[in-house]
This record gives sequence, structure tokens and C-alpha cells, in this order.
Amino acid sequence: MEPARPSSDGPREIVEYNFQRAADRLALDSEMRTLLSTPFREVRVEVPVRMDDGSLRVFVGYRVQHSGVRGPSKGGLRYHPDTDLNEVRALAAAMNWKTSLVNIPFGGSKGGIAVDPAELSTRELERLTRNYVRRIHLLLGPYRDVPAPDVNTNAQVMTWIFDEYSAHHGYTPACVTGKPVELGGSQGREAATGRGVFYITEAFLKDLGMPLAGARVAIQGFGNVGSNAARFFAEAGAKLVAVADVRGGVFNQEGLDILPLLAYARTQRTVAGFAGGQAISNEDVLESECDVLVPAALHCVITRHNAGKIRAKVIAEAANLPTTPEADEILAQRGIHILPDILTNAGGVVVSYFEWTQNLTQMFWEEDRVNAEMHKILIRAYQQMAELAAREKIPFRTAAYTVAVDRVARAERLRGT
Ligand code: NAD
Repeated sequence: MEPARPSSDGPREIVEYNFQRAADRLALDSEMRTLLSTPFREVRVEVPVRMDDGSLRVFVGYRVQHSGVRGPSKGGLRYHPDTDLNEVRALAAAMNWKTSLVNIPFGGSKGGIAVDPAELSTRELERLTRNYVRRIHLLLGPYRDVPAPDVNTNAQVMTWIFDEYSAHHGYTPACVTGKPVELGGSQGREAATGRGVFYITEAFLKDLGMPLAGARVAIQGFGNVGSNAARFFAEAGAKLVAVADVRGGVFNQEGLDILPLLAYARTQRTVAGFAGGQAISNEDVLESECDVLVPAALHCVITRHNAGKIRAKVIAEAANLPTTPEADEILAQRGIHILPDILTNAGGVVVSYFEWTQNLTQMFWEEDRVNAEMHKILIRAYQQMAELAAREKIPFRTAAYTVAVDRVARAERLRGT
């Protein structure tokens, strides 16, 4: 029996629904379902920060480790005013299915602090990060749980985590990934998620017989993932017709000029107002006429309210959990292909795995090797998903979750939980 579609559009419902669909296909019993869908550990901590003006503010931080059965938990840290335990739980579970799908030796976790980092100075952000680490460092570590960048965090934030963790435990570069190359970061990590989005889309368009050169691409979100994906698509000859970030968007059906756009976004910290196209809203980007739509901002942006209006032929999910189950169904009926998040945005965690490996061995790789190994891992997972989807006549998402959930269930059984 199909699991009932959730009536709520929250991230937790999305990941739970997709998990249950896979569990049905695998005929998992209720004990195994409970085991696999219950987070291993959750923490909520207060994070006090002495502000530059001398006042004290107290933020709330979270870390959820969904599972460590296949290896240490692995997952990003997000700074966002709307972050809460429910969101972090959902993202931790999604990470767990992602690391399993691409078959790297990690479980899944996620962290977040409810804060608008734009309101904090650099020093305040550093104090926030260090105080968060002080409260949870006993739960972190190279063989326990390894954070990485996510929304509004970057290589500088990862450096503070590395430094603070090492102050308590001794020099431990493998405790966090996404560090600058100077401090043990991997070549290619910064661009890895966007590059992976490109690799997966490239492979799928080839199978579809749709040329990448000249394909019209629209991207929502122009941060680390969106801007890097934009660059790789443009370099391959695709036409970037629309981009948007939280402050607005820009559209040009002849194609936006990528280098001036990247330079503008770097200096202005937004794409809104870029002179090479017309202004459009961030919602309009999702509904713009294009071949490939790349949601690369936040979760739950493609819902029953706008799924009927999306005009892309392919949706390459760079953000985590961007599409609700109801939207999935509408898009399937309309023949729109979806490349699911747990595969499409996995390039980041794959290169984080390489960074962790390089830190543990203290042997460093050239960027060409990083990119080639990432390509191999992503394409192997893509083929496994695509073959299962074709054989069983199921959507890519269900196939991806089925491969992922099966692998974790086997590990649970073998370990004899
Ligand atoms: P980022 O902070 O670098 O960029 C986020 C972008 O989204 C910014 O351009 C921001 O303006 C935009 N944005 C935020 N709210 C928006 C809104 N309401 N409407 C439109 N745009 C909005 O973050 P990122 O690291 O690029 O992450 C983007 C997405 O990719 C997230 O869903 C994240 O979980 C996912 N992801 C990131 C990584 C990684 O390696 N950084 C890996 C896998 C998945």
C-alpha cells in the first residue's frame, strides 16, 4: 500500500514520506522502520554571545545525528533565523540517505543555529561558532560526527570549528570538512556541490538525448552551490536564462553573461540589480521558461501551489528537500523529470569524504584527482538509481531512496542492533 501523502509541506514530512515509500518497496518490518527513522542523538544548546557593544545575546543551536551505523555521522552546519529542531532533524535524515546512496563510509547528521548572520560582525560570528563548538565538542570528532559548510557558513566558519575543537582535543583537522586548503581543506571542495549538480545533470541530459550546449538553465539561490553550478553550466555552453537569490532575480532569454554576473554577485552580495537582464522575483525564477531548473536555496520551494506552473523539462535538485511529495506527483503527471537531491547535491559530501581521508592520511590530492574520483562515485550512484528506476518503473527519487535505505538496513542487520 502506498503511504499516505503528508498534508503538511514541512521538510520532516518530505524525508519521512520518501523513506516510507522505499521501506515499502523493501518490505521492511515496523521494527526496522522505527530504527531507521528515529534519530540516534539530538542536542539543543544555548549559545551565548557577548556582542561588540557589550550586550549579551543568547542563540539556540542544534545538532542531530541521524545514524552512524555505516560510519561517523556527516553533515553541514547552517546559520539561518528559521532553523529549528524539526528542520535539522529532517536534514540529518536526508544526509544519512545521501551518504548511503553514494556509498561513502558515513552516516548522516546536521547542525544549525537560529541566527541571521548578516546581523553579526565577523568577531561576533567567531564567538558564536566557538561557543557552539564548546558546548557540543564531546559529540563531534573524526570518528563520531564531522560537520561541513551549509547555508550561510563557509570555510572561515569551518576554520573556527577546527581551531576550537583542536583546542580541546589536540590538532585534529579531520574533525570538520570544508576548511581552506591552507589548513587541510581539499582541492575542489568549495566548488564540489555545484560541480556534482552539473555532473549529474550532464549524465541525465545525455541519456535523455538533450544537448547541454544551448540548454536553458534557471537557478534559484546564488550562494556556494548555485553560483558554482551556474559557472559549470555556462562553461559547458548552456544558457543561463534566470537566477535569483533572497533579494531578487534577473532574467535574460539570450543568456546572462556569467563572468560579469559572478563578479557582480561577489561585490554586491546579491544578483538583484545586475544590469545584464530584466529584474524578476525569486518565485518567478522557479516558473520561468527553461529546460533545466536548479533549486539551490532552501527546502520546500516546489509545492502543490506552484508545481502546476513549472515550465522546466528537468529539475536538478541542488538544495536539500526542495520538493514536497504532492508536488512530486503533479510534476510526474506533467512529465517533468526530477533528479533527486540526495544524488544531485552529493558532490559536496563526496569531496568532504576525500578531505577527511586526506586529513587522516596527511597525503594530499591534486584537484584533477578529486574531480575524477567524485565523478566516478556520483555516476556509479546515478547508474544504480537509473537502472532500478527503469527496471521497476518507479521515479528516480523512489529508486534513490530504495538503494540508500536498503544499504543502511543491511548494515543495521549485520551489526545486530
Ligand atoms: P549559501 O548560503 O551559500 O547560499 C544560499 C543562497 O540561497 C543565497 O544566494 C541566498 O540568497 C539564497 N536564498 C536564501 N533564501 C532564499 C529564498 N527564500 N529565496 C531565494 N533564494 C534564497 O548556501 P549553499 O551552501 O549554497 O546551500 C544552498 C542549498 O544547497 C541548501 O539547501 C543546502 O542545504 C544545499 N546544499 C549545500 C551543500 C554545500 O556543500 N554547501 C551541499 C549539499 C546541499
